[in-house]
Amino acid sequence: MGIIMHQKPDADAMGSSLALSAFLRVLGHETIVVSPTNWAPFLNWMPGSRETLDYEKQTAKTEEALNACDLVFCLDFNHFGRTRRMLNYLTGLNVPKALIDHHQQPQSEAFVYGKSDTGKSSTSEMIYDFIMASEHAGLLNNDMAQCLYAGVMTDTGSFRFPSTTASVHRMVANLIERGLNHSVIHDELFDNYLENRLRFLGHVLSNRMDIFYEYNTSLIAVPFADLKKYDIKTGDTEGIVNLQQSVTGLKMAAIIIDRGDEVKLSFRSKGNVDVNTFARRYFDGGGHFHAAGGSSKTGLEDTVNRFVKALEENIDILQ
Ligand code: 5GP
Ligand code: MN
Repeated sequence: MGIIMHQKPDADAMGSSLALSAFLRVLGHETIVVSPTNWAPFLNWMPGSRETLDYEKQTAKTEEALNACDLVFCLDFNHFGRTRRMLNYLTGLNVPKALIDHHQQPQSEAFVYGKSDTGKSSTSEMIYDFIMASEHAGLLNNDMAQCLYAGVMTDTGSFRFPSTTASVHRMVANLIERGLNHSVIHDELFDNYLENRLRFLGHVLSNRMDIFYEYNTSLIAVPFADLKKYDIKTGDTEGIVNLQQSVTGLKMAAIIIDRGDEVKLSFRSKGNVDVNTFARRYFDGGGHFHAAGGSSKTGLEDTVNRFVKALEENIDILQ
């Protein structure tokens, strides 16, 4: 069986995929786990991560392995566009696909089976539910628990977002009762960067952040030259957008990063501001009500201008 996650996977995408793979293997299935692109080094501690195939680096090998699967699970994304260069391959792949995901508006027709639940904190929580609801809950081991905890912890903003339900806390309690050491996972994910990343953070907060009080919105816009100067790698920019949310009264926070080949956008919001719809409408993106992303091909300056114009158009919900 194949398991695929979204491009530039975060801890939820990687964690849910590796946990599902480990569970299926304990049941005697052969599995391969595929990431469409590379991933942040701070995910490499996850049991099984080193066996994960990088489609961009190992295209032929990955396609051959997926062609031989009898089922492919798609985890933590719900339309093939989120797999970047795998889009055409996946669209043409004649193997049944099963969806397990918590994002809005799934591409339902592409899947023979699907569990899509926007009420869930994370795909990792869904995999935990899947294991618990099976007749093999006793097979959940510490490797799986570590991966699932990482996914649920990061996708809930360390148990802070409204998606952190009582079920999430029950899941974590159960994992800890089974012997999970949760605090080392926190260290692996959040206290595992190089000095340059912290210096970069100081630079962008001082020099690249604008707060538009008239729209209760904060924006960090990062030129490609900054990424090069501070030697910023995949994963180093994760979480920066959230820092702006500590400013009182803000309803929306955004980061726009010129990655060279494309401009990536991330949005966060509070209250009644729906950034999933915002990302879809203006930046070919999507995600969740309070956390979404998108992309742009028009360069940093134009993308920032379009973003500010979009704020103007949404002044009613932002004020
Ligand atoms: P992040 O800002 O942390 O990259 O992503 C926030 C949420 O939005 C995640 O759930 C992620 O899957 C989703 N997301 C990020 N970028 C895109 C995009 O370009 N398209 C879509 N559809 N979703 C995205
Ligand atoms: Mn997720």
